[in-house]
Amino acid sequence: MFRQQRIAISPSQISNHQIHLTREQYHYLIRVLRLTDGDEVIAIDGVGNWWLANLKGENANITQQLTVDTELPATIILLTALPKGNGFDDIVRICTELGVAKIVPILSDRTLLNPSPQKRERWQRIAQEAAEQSERAYIPTIYQPVDFATGLNLFPSTHQYICEGRGNYPHLLTKISPSNDLPHPTIIIATGPEGGWSDKELELAIASNFQPVSLGKRILRAISAPIAAVSMVTGYWESCGNY
Ligand code: SAH
Repeated sequence: MFRQQRIAISPSQISNHQIHLTREQYHYLIRVLRLTDGDEVIAIDGVGNWWLANLKGENANITQQLTVDTELPATIILLTALPKGNGFDDIVRICTELGVAKIVPILSDRTLLNPSPQKRERWQRIAQEAAEQSERAYIPTIYQPVDFATGLNLFPSTHQYICEGRGNYPHLLTKISPSNDLPHPTIIIATGPEGGWSDKELELAIASNFQPVSLGKRILRAISAPIAAVSMVTGYWESCGNY
């Protein structure tokens, strides 16, 4: 746990052990937080590095690289059908806190929403803020919405699950086995919209080597299901997985 103010930067802002602050960062640190020259901040580049730095004018001088050990030994990718309203904001925020690596919004057969292109930027900002607050070393990537067939083939993985509340499918936790896994597996989890997956989507996912799984005997809301699924996987990995 660090007490200094954290700011997310892009790796391209660093040169010669100096971080060149953007106008917004400068404004936020100096005008809003009233920090002054010599004050320490932590800069997070979103791709694994944390830097301790001293403010100096419009720059911050890097004094030390910090060790952050908050990432999972697995890459979790969510393919989540867009829920109604602003529900996706909560999914992005909470799943980032839990350790997700990538989230792909899915336009499914029963998705009611067609989001504006600006939504992705909003979700990416939410992911950034959540990553800062939960002391992640990586900021998850939030993709532009894609149709389900495209989403199913975006990433290579041998651990692919589609969550389905109806039918007698094995529990997700019974299907994750660290002993057979590579040191850093990629786990892909698909969760559906309020109306559930269509039969066609379930068949398509199975044909694409997604294993249908249950998250328990109760039907979860479209917003709760991805959060439950990611907590189960992270809980598993951090207790009895390869840790
Ligand atoms: N209206 C649908 C429920 C949709 S819930 C119905 O009555 O069947 C939204 C999504 O959450 C589902 O598509 C599924 O991916 C996931 N989900 C909810 N509860 C689940 C459970 N118990 N097991 C597995 N997946 C679940």
